[in-house]
Amino acid sequence: MADSNIEQKIKPHLANVQTYTPVDPPELLAQKAGIPESEILKLNGNENPYGPSPAAIKAVSKAPLRIYPDPLQRKMRQALSDYTGVDSSSIIAGAGSDELIDLLFRLFISPGDRILDFEPTFAMYAFCARVAGASVELVQRDELFDIDMDALRDAVDDHTKIIFVSSPNNPTGNLISQSTVEELLDTGLVVVIDEAYYEFCNQTVANLIPKYDNLVVLRTMSKWAGLAGLRIGYGMMSPSLVDHIIDIKSPYNVNVAAEAALLASLEDSPALLDNVSKIVSERNRLQVALEAMPGITPWPSEGNFILCQLANPEEASRVYEALAAKGIFVRNFGSERLQDTFRVAIGTPDQTDIFIAALKDILK
Ligand code: PMP
Repeated sequence: MADSNIEQKIKPHLANVQTYTPVDPPELLAQKAGIPESEILKLNGNENPYGPSPAAIKAVSKAPLRIYPDPLQRKMRQALSDYTGVDSSSIIAGAGSDELIDLLFRLFISPGDRILDFEPTFAMYAFCARVAGASVELVQRDELFDIDMDALRDAVDDHTKIIFVSSPNNPTGNLISQSTVEELLDTGLVVVIDEAYYEFCNQTVANLIPKYDNLVVLRTMSKWAGLAGLRIGYGMMSPSLVDHIIDIKSPYNVNVAAEAALLASLEDSPALLDNVSKIVSERNRLQVALEAMPGITPWPSEGNFILCQLANPEEASRVYEALAAKGIFVRNFGSERLQDTFRVAIGTPDQTDIFIAALKDILK
């Protein structure tokens, strides 16, 4: 083969980029635990234990796979407008909110620009920054994982373009207040409030969109509507920003199956929101059960997950491994601040019982 020097052609900042650490698929987890896939308890991805609406599954089976989807997403944007109360001109859908995060980088970020992340938080913002050749300023959250405005002011410089905040924050579970969001918006920077877990807390800043053209609110169908595998999320922002996103997105970014599932899910939202209520009840039950266990401290959560703190990093690894050996998979983190923690997604009542029994056994 001719020597094409292909490695040298890769953009230098991407040749050895630090990639995103994703969660493993169920078959691999089962293999690791040496147990059948049907017996593992996957609580590491904040997925919905009740899955999609039956109406969504039916709609997917009838979706017109032969044709390309509508690049302007007219039906989806209207249905999302009816669901959110935000005008359809202020809404745009993506292949997961992950795609919208990436599109925001394409729109705003040039190599050398900076973004601000409040650590610890969802790793996707920093990952997209690395891929975009931008730098990430990690502003540490305070001891209660709240946002430290003084630290933020010190961190902003002329290269800073976007501030990302997950609310509730993944993985710590806490919300940002509307007044803090307004303080962030007053910096004039692009402020992305990622409300992936909105339905589990009903707290939103979408009402601020008409007032601030630098606000972007992200949501997803992955969590409350159980559609993580189909990849469908949406963003809400000023109509002019939506138009810019439309100009740069790939035309058929949301596939027809995802579109069909979204439309059917929104029509069936009362049933899906019943599942959300069940998850919230289980979250509260698990919180109380964890508080009663010695050696573990659950952080209060407004999402569909709980961050659990152990005595030290060694104990956190021991518990993580012991759970995995029983076929129960939770999420652990490499960062220094979260070394003594793991995050557990909320499951069905039966799954919560299994998790509690396993944890009691491991901690005794
Ligand atoms: N934002 C946050 C805060 C998340 O936790 C996740 C999923 N883990 C996402 C966005 C991505 O959602 P989606 O599946 O819509 O890409």
